[in-house]
Amino acid sequence: MRIAVIGAGWAGLSAAHRLHAEGHELSVFEAAPAIGGRARGVWSNKLQMTLDNGQHILLSAYTDTLALLGSLHGQLDSCCATLPLIWESADGLLSLRVPKRLPSKLALAWGLLRAQGLSRSARWRAAQALMQLSFSGWRVAQGLTVEHWLDATHQPPDIRTVFWHPLCLATMNTPPQQACAQLFAHVLRDSLGQGADACRIVLPRLDLGSLWNSSALRDMDLRLRRPVQRLAMHNGGIQVDDEAFDTVILACPAATSCKLLSQLPKSPLGEDYLAPYAKFTHLPIATLYLRLTQPWHLPHPMLQLRETPATLGFGQWVFNRHAFSRSDTAPLLSVVISDASHLATHDEASLVAGIQAQLRAQLSRAGPMPAVSGHQLIVEKRATFAALPGLERPKEKTPWLGVFVAGDWTDTGYPAVLEGAVRSGLRAARLATAPTHV
Ligand SMILES: Cc1cc2nc3c(=O)[nH]c(=O)nc-3n(C[C@H](O)[C@H](O)[C@H](O)COP(=O)(O)OP(=O)(O)OC[C@H]3O[C@@H](n4cnc5c(N)ncnc54)[C@H](O)[C@@H]3O)c2cc1C
Repeated sequence: MRIAVIGAGWAGLSAAHRLHAEGHELSVFEAAPAIGGRARGVWSNKLQMTLDNGQHILLSAYTDTLALLGSLHGQLDSCCATLPLIWESADGLLSLRVPKRLPSKLALAWGLLRAQGLSRSARWRAAQALMQLSFSGWRVAQGLTVEHWLDATHQPPDIRTVFWHPLCLATMNTPPQQACAQLFAHVLRDSLGQGADACRIVLPRLDLGSLWNSSALRDMDLRLRRPVQRLAMHNGGIQVDDEAFDTVILACPAATSCKLLSQLPKSPLGEDYLAPYAKFTHLPIATLYLRLTQPWHLPHPMLQLRETPATLGFGQWVFNRHAFSRSDTAPLLSVVISDASHLATHDEASLVAGIQAQLRAQLSRAGPMPAVSGHQLIVEKRATFAALPGLERPKEKTPWLGVFVAGDWTDTGYPAVLEGAVRSGLRAARLATAPTHV
């Protein structure tokens, strides 16, 4: 069976890796000059080094992604650092830990009850909301936003500002006033709700491009700079541009997949299937890299920042890459800004100055910040789809025989995250080679 995978982001690569390992005849088409899609390495001329297009954080609950990385690198430790979840604000005022030795349902609630820097009523309300959610089977009423859910569970303002809102933005890249509460409940269920072991933080030690740079891609027919333009049914198979295949997995963005699928024979089933594709909207994520002249010994590799918009302190999280990264040649901080639409109205120099001032002010307990010898701001404009309530997401199996889709935007049950992309890619690979399609 000849299989084409269109798109070499994490969904396409996961599918291709599985199919290649199973010995299928495979071609991978990628529009860009490099693999990785929205999780890739990019060369920075300013810093003269390869950076990630955005700081990526994995959780130990991302079992398929971690298994994949483990298999690509022999063991997970050689490519990723795994750290216990310590949610601490840069200024040290807020501190939350998920205790290890408690049943999963109780662990986060207990962690919240014991958190430092929150009022007693905030801790109690948060723990109560979480327990209720867990006992309801992690189900919330249809159509609710995260903010609706916070209102319904009477969350006080302080815990919204320092915990729920940042958690929602960090996991869904969608503001709580718009984000789907059910999807948020899934995120909580599969991570924080599973206890300390499931919500350990996993940070890549290598740049994202190098995570795939192993024997996995060797001998694979990988065609870079090959944007697929045409799809057609032909003689019981599928024509990809001018080449014939038996099966195709479209692992490109939803809009491109829709454009290509629209070229296939029309049917009412096909039209129904394609209807949700037009509903996706996207939000940006920005990452500011700051190269320091010497290491800065921060209390944890990952710290939460308090936003100070009046002085352009837009940073939400800071990562001390020196503490976990293997390849960085110089001490490097990455500062993450989710839902970064508001950055567009400011010039880069002012943003960089504002965020540096924010770091200095909030991290004074770590001693003076070393001088910054260079920076790189990367804004990914279409980083993730907006995870809105009621957003219908397409299944991997399409109504066209032998044609499948994969991507973080498919019906994964997760927001736009690597685990969703990987699971979707693996599912598409399984469906594509299921006996009914041979
Ligand atoms: C800045 C940023 C930070 C993020 N942070 C996190 C995080 O901390 N944790 C997390 O889990 N996730 C994070 N994500 C999300 C994660 O990166 C995505 O969920 C994942 O990379 C999506 O992979 P994908 O394969 O579904 O899609 P994509 O990566 O978009 O892959 C689609 C591929 O198709 C290619 N393509 C497009 N058109 C064509 C065509 N016509 N022919 C051939 N190829 C084509 C594209 O070039 C691309 O390579 C972040 C994303 C960004 C941008």
